[in-house]
Amino acid sequence: NAKRLGRNQSLRFRPALDKQDNPQLGLVSDLRAALVSGDQLELYFQTQHHPATGDLVGMEALLRWKHPRDGMISPGEFIPLAERHGLMAELGSWVIEKACAQQAHWANSDMPTLTMWVNISALQLFQGDLETLLATCLERYRLTPAHIGLELTESVLLDERAGDMGPRLKALQAQGYAIAIDDFGTGYSSLGYLKRLPVDKIKLDRAFIRELPGDQADAAIVKAVLSMAKGLSLDVIAEGVETKEQCDFLVNAGCYIVQGFYFSRPVPASELEQRWLPQPRAAMAKAGT
Ligand code: C2E
Ligand code: MG
Ligand code: MG
Ligand code: MG
Repeated sequence: NAKRLGRNQSLRFRPALDKQDNPQLGLVSDLRAALVSGDQLELYFQTQHHPATGDLVGMEALLRWKHPRDGMISPGEFIPLAERHGLMAELGSWVIEKACAQQAHWANSDMPTLTMWVNISALQLFQGDLETLLATCLERYRLTPAHIGLELTESVLLDERAGDMGPRLKALQAQGYAIAIDDFGTGYSSLGYLKRLPVDKIKLDRAFIRELPGDQADAAIVKAVLSMAKGLSLDVIAEGVETKEQCDFLVNAGCYIVQGFYFSRPVPASELEQRWLPQPRAAMAKAGT
């Protein structure tokens, strides 16, 4: 055995690689199991607000995985893993299905209709039939495309594997789905695509918000993006708004949608209902008597 190892240089690195890979591979099979059972996965919701009035204007669905042994695992960790190991299509379908089920539940309990924004991974666009998946879910839950918004990152829009995303996004937009660019400003930042691709909203990445209002460069970038977006008739959402000072700056700069810990962390559906959504009519009538 030692002889064989000696002949093949690359094999020498196996032990170190194994140490690195095994925990990940363990997580992959755990994720596979989580998709089968379904009960370790949950959608959390983070609200979006008008910064001056606090009015609730929409929400984003954010995936959570409560691992039975390791506790909460961040989507920043398990989404790339799912993408690398062929689980993203299934995970993405699970998210869309749950988002629609939640919207239908709220629609049936007299809650006001707000767009629920869902994060769409590159692989869902390249490999899956997103259009059919969305249409099937909307029909099953008797929803319209106005109930669901699609968040795509810049890197997805400009990924060469995607070919020209224009026609597909145009088709989705024509069907009534709103499309937002997530993490705007952190990708390739080739602004030309804003002219080429059908987009309704820009989500200004929290990297530009974090040091507001003190950082002059960030302040200038945020103002410039807002002014450009106005010229292009695009809405802007500021992500990662954590303080009143950031909020005030954004109000003054003309940004009228914000999302961040200042208004709410991502929370389970039940918590969102209690905190933000008005009570169903029946309950209100009771409370009034
Ligand atoms: P994202 O779509 O840009 O989502 C915003 C992230 O910023 C969320 O992290 C949210 O919890 C966090 N955040 C919101 N407000 C604040 C704030 O005021 N301060 C700070 N420090 N953070 C804030 P989260 O939930 O950990 O998600 C991370 C990323 O994982 C998301 O970034 C998104 O790219 C991805 N992701 C989450 N759920 C899904 C999903 O269902 N499908 C796909 N494909 N990706 C998802
Ligand atoms: Mg997002
Ligand atoms: Mg984002
Ligand atoms: Mg982000």
